Amino acid sequence: MTEPTNREAQQSAGEIPPITIGVLALQGDYEAHARAFQNAGARTVLVRKPEELAGLDGLVLPGGESTTMLKFLEKQGFFETLGAFVAATPCFATCAGCILVAREVLHPQQRSLGALDATVERNAYGRQIDSAILTLPTELPGGPLEMVFIRAPRIARVGSGVEVLAQRDGFPVLVRQGDLLVATFHPEMTSDTRVQQLFLEMVRNHKNSKPRHD
Ligand code: GLN
Repeated sequence: MTEPTNREAQQSAGEIPPITIGVLALQGDYEAHARAFQNAGARTVLVRKPEELAGLDGLVLPGGESTTMLKFLEKQGFFETLGAFVAATPCFATCAGCILVAREVLHPQQRSLGALDATVERNAYGRQIDSAILTLPTELPGGPLEMVFIRAPRIARVGSGVEVLAQRDGFPVLVRQGDLLVATFHPEMTSDTRVQQLFLEMVRNHKNSKPRHD
């Protein structure tokens, strides 16, 4: 048996309420996100239907193919339910997820949830460099971060309420707007959990700031 971690011990003593992170599991690399958040100490739930959003503390919108995800979201009023959820609850969107949450999508234009005040261009890096592993500085503590880009979108514009936490060639690749954290790369594909830890901290702060009804 392994020793419980500090957090697990505190959780079982009822000091820290457990965090439940949903991972949108319509298509894409949702399994890797679920594993990364489990490693970072959260409970995870795969979300395939709008009603499965109920009761979550936060949601991951993973990478994959945004057009395919949109096709699934067109059913059962999922697009509208997800839009309302993203507006009210901490969310972490990566790559295709970034495209889904943007206010404006170009190259080509497509429907999006409009939660992030940004313009995003799909597949914006040329063929040769469309996928890359780079180690870049960020605003996170602990030095540069390894980032995996796969046919990544480019955040071409951000509004003044958007905080830029890392850039690639002068374009934002990790941004935060209130309770929404967005990356154009894939933090779930490396062993460094600093981006997941930041999101969990955002989720905890949001949870602690809400009035309790129990
Ligand atoms: N190119 C994909 C899209 O446009 C995003 C790629 C990814 O999520 N890795 O949806």
